[in-house]
Amino acid sequence: MDKQTLSFQAEVKQILHLVTHSLYSNKEIFLRELVSNASDACDKLRFEALDKPQLFEDAPNLEVRVWYDAEKKTITIRDNGIGMSADEAVSHLGTIAKSGTREFMNKLEGDQKKDANLIGQFGVGFYSGFIVADRMTVETRRAGATAEEGVRWSSEGTGDFEVETITRAERGTDVILHLREGEEEFLSAWKLKSVISKYSDHISLPVLMPKTKWDDEKKDTVPTDEWETVNKAAALWTRSKSDITDAQYQDFYKQLSYDQEAPLAYTHNRVEGRSEYTQLLYVPAKAPMDMWNRDKRGGVKLYVKRVFIMDDAEALMPVYLRFVKGVIDSADLPLNVSRELLQESRDVKAIREGSTKRVLGMLESLADSESAEDREKYAKFWGEFGAVLKEGVGEDHANQERLAKLLRFASTHADTGVSFADYVKRMKEGQEEIYYITADTLSAAKNSPQLEIFRKKGLEVLLLTDRVDEWMLSHLYEFDGKPLQSVAKGGVDLGKLQDEEEKKQAEATAEAFKPTLDKLKEALKDRAKDVRTTTRLVDSPACIVVEEGDMSSHLARLLKQSGQAAPAGKPILEVNAEHALVKRLEAMNQDEGSFDELAHILFDQALLAEGGQLEDPAAYVARVNKLLVAA
Ligand code: ADP
Ligand code: MG
Repeated sequence: MDKQTLSFQAEVKQILHLVTHSLYSNKEIFLRELVSNASDACDKLRFEALDKPQLFEDAPNLEVRVWYDAEKKTITIRDNGIGMSADEAVSHLGTIAKSGTREFMNKLEGDQKKDANLIGQFGVGFYSGFIVADRMTVETRRAGATAEEGVRWSSEGTGDFEVETITRAERGTDVILHLREGEEEFLSAWKLKSVISKYSDHISLPVLMPKTKWDDEKKDTVPTDEWETVNKAAALWTRSKSDITDAQYQDFYKQLSYDQEAPLAYTHNRVEGRSEYTQLLYVPAKAPMDMWNRDKRGGVKLYVKRVFIMDDAEALMPVYLRFVKGVIDSADLPLNVSRELLQESRDVKAIREGSTKRVLGMLESLADSESAEDREKYAKFWGEFGAVLKEGVGEDHANQERLAKLLRFASTHADTGVSFADYVKRMKEGQEEIYYITADTLSAAKNSPQLEIFRKKGLEVLLLTDRVDEWMLSHLYEFDGKPLQSVAKGGVDLGKLQDEEEKKQAEATAEAFKPTLDKLKEALKDRAKDVRTTTRLVDSPACIVVEEGDMSSHLARLLKQSGQAAPAGKPILEVNAEHALVKRLEAMNQDEGSFDELAHILFDQALLAEGGQLEDPAAYVARVNKLLVAA
């Protein structure tokens, strides 16, 4: 075939225009794309040679070679893969087979970020060569064709390209980039090597470059005739589990995470089915400084067919598993997948679901392990990441039950490590609910007056002090069919746990106390929604509760602290009619002024006892002092 000049398909022209005029940052990705094409070409040859081994000719070792020529200002990427026939060169390098290009291009035109990575959205990696080259030449010969059937394709990346037949002995393809003025930084062995190891370390075939030596005359390093492999050429996660030692897994983790401490656990699986991918995921031993930043990108690197795509692909993991580190290598995603596409992709959704299950499984096997060492690890994990995992209870409804089992709390029984299952095992005969209290600190929770009756009756109460707890509990209503019940909400109905005698006595006390109660209601009408007697108190005179369904006063405080408006509902004051202070109130019935004073003191103290803040602390102090003086 004589030299022919052909026109690019209209879409290709548009893409080339964008590539050469708009993409300024991340230019180096052209090398990733071209090395990846070379690697694909070798994969294709390997596949076709399954039936036709003669395609290997006399060069069965598949490899990629990259070199530069400082004088000619060229970079060459050579592979001995499948190669292209003339027809293939014309169609593969002159048209775009994929649909949806138009759409992507509109997106890019509206976008101000001119990141070369955006070329990923087009699925047209070959043209990324024109980011740095003002001419690309491709010399190729298809495997199985004769030397005379070689092809040279060449273009300046504008409207058209040339093709002609050449003689080429070697099978495979050379892609030659004639660098633009100003792109000389790529004429450096060091630069090319660093880009290759950044993006192509885990490509499974070797990428070779000429060794360099110092040249005294040129005062620079120059290439020699000897070649060396510059990538690792074998990704750990592509190897079979049985070939990998624990030490190798640990080393890989350290490289990946820059964490000096060994991971708590890892999981490595090849998943086949709806979506095909390999995952190697680690749970670190220590939380990073910025773990509370929910905007922080995830620690999972995405590879597609062993080519590195991005190292913070948050779409691969739910936000509440943002501490997980590792690699996911997909066989289905396009190499040029963008963040936007990741968010929408069904393959990614399948990967996220599968990986979430794996991580939860890994945590479960630590938590429920026979080995004390593993359970110790889980306790450590919980200390570092428990509060983050709690976010999942509200965010991941599909896994809510599994997550609930992984939760650990402090309780009136033990300061740490109490699971719902432990709690349920210790529930008393007749107890139907799981009791909890939320507070700012563990000691505030422990010493809360609301717990008194539970202590007296030997009922365990979970003590929740993480900021996220209130939010979590607004999504979790029960465990194992047992409703979760705040001890600071509603009237305590210990139901079957109270005997008849106690119930009768409580009613009698309430009846006798009624006149005092009415006076209290009147005195506190601006502050309390209601005042009532209670059996929940033993040692304290009074406590604050909110109505079932109202926001807890702890949550209202958290909201206020974070500058948000909390509903200004009034709480309920519950009083212990048996308490000496309350009895004194009862006796005070005659003396209006002092009654009011004491009523307010009672209310303020109840607020203080649960960690609340007084609106008017000075008034409280004045009242108490007045009483002290009078005494
Ligand atoms: P993609 O790799 O996503 O198919 P590219 O724009 O990177 O898109 O490449 C376009 C096509 O050109 C490839 O699908 C392939 O058919 C052909 N091609 C590119 N580079 C090579 C190569 N080194 N050897 C053989 N074919 C190649
Ligand atoms: Mg490609």
